[in-house]
Amino acid sequence: MSPSYIGRFAPSPSGVLHFGSLIAALGSYLQARAQQGQWLVRIEDIDPPREVPGAAKRILLQLEQYGLHWDGEVLWQSQRHDAYREALARLQQHNHSYFCTCTRSRIQQVGGVYDGHCRTRNCGPDNAALRLRVDVPVDHFHDNLRGEVVADTRLAQEDFIIHRRDGLFAYNLAVVVDDYYQGVTEVVRGADLIEPTVRQIALYQQFGWPVPGYLHLPLAINADGNKLSKQNHAPALPEGDPRPVLVQALQFLGQPVTPGWQDLPLSVLLQQAAMQWDVATIPRQDALYRNALPQGSPRSYLKE
Ligand code: GLU
Ligand code: ZN
Repeated sequence: MSPSYIGRFAPSPSGVLHFGSLIAALGSYLQARAQQGQWLVRIEDIDPPREVPGAAKRILLQLEQYGLHWDGEVLWQSQRHDAYREALARLQQHNHSYFCTCTRSRIQQVGGVYDGHCRTRNCGPDNAALRLRVDVPVDHFHDNLRGEVVADTRLAQEDFIIHRRDGLFAYNLAVVVDDYYQGVTEVVRGADLIEPTVRQIALYQQFGWPVPGYLHLPLAINADGNKLSKQNHAPALPEGDPRPVLVQALQFLGQPVTPGWQDLPLSVLLQQAAMQWDVATIPRQDALYRNALPQGSPRSYLKE
């Protein structure tokens, strides 16, 4: 029997997990477990220049340490190039894409959003990016937390890049090809990825694939109002007892936490959290995260 719900967590190995990425991991995990669904992990290693050596392996160890066990094998995007090439070929055959040799500075000159300059120029593949010909723009979508989300019209209409000039596959292409391949029924991820969602839906429509559901979780932001990220030095998740951190993450996600939960065995804590998981109480606003957790907890979790 194949389960009807399939969710996933899809980190990029540009650094190890921090509290912000734990929110996306835990939220997608609980949303899947609450529905007896599958939860998959995919490592999005399609951008070698941005990859931190060893980060992918450490991310997987961090997920295990935090009790977030995934179903099946991890999918590595670095192993999926044939599938991306095939998808690109299919779009090209149907004239849904075209080569573009425009420079970044030219696009800046026309206001920062691509104007379709190369649509009729018949550029060759040399030193060119490939763009999707967006003939039927998607300008809104339904978010399972936020309701109707309306996109910026100019961005929705933009012929966006699906294969980069430097030869790398674009995130929007890879994420759609893989979510479809893995049978993902709902994409649960951080609100920083609301913007590309309409592009991804446009791609599903070009391929004729069913569009998954979407749910964008609030972001953890620092005192400067920036999202926690590797760029602004968000600390890695503590390596000690994960339970106080998980409790903090549950509270961040608006979930009721019963006193004493952090003393439960890790797997029981997560089971309880899945049983009580309620999307309706997740805040829609990004929220401040003050790092109150000691790095390396005094209590040794491993001795439990
Ligand atoms: N790999 C992306 C990131 O780490 C997330 C992709 C997704 O969830 O759609 O930001
Ligand atoms: Zn162009």
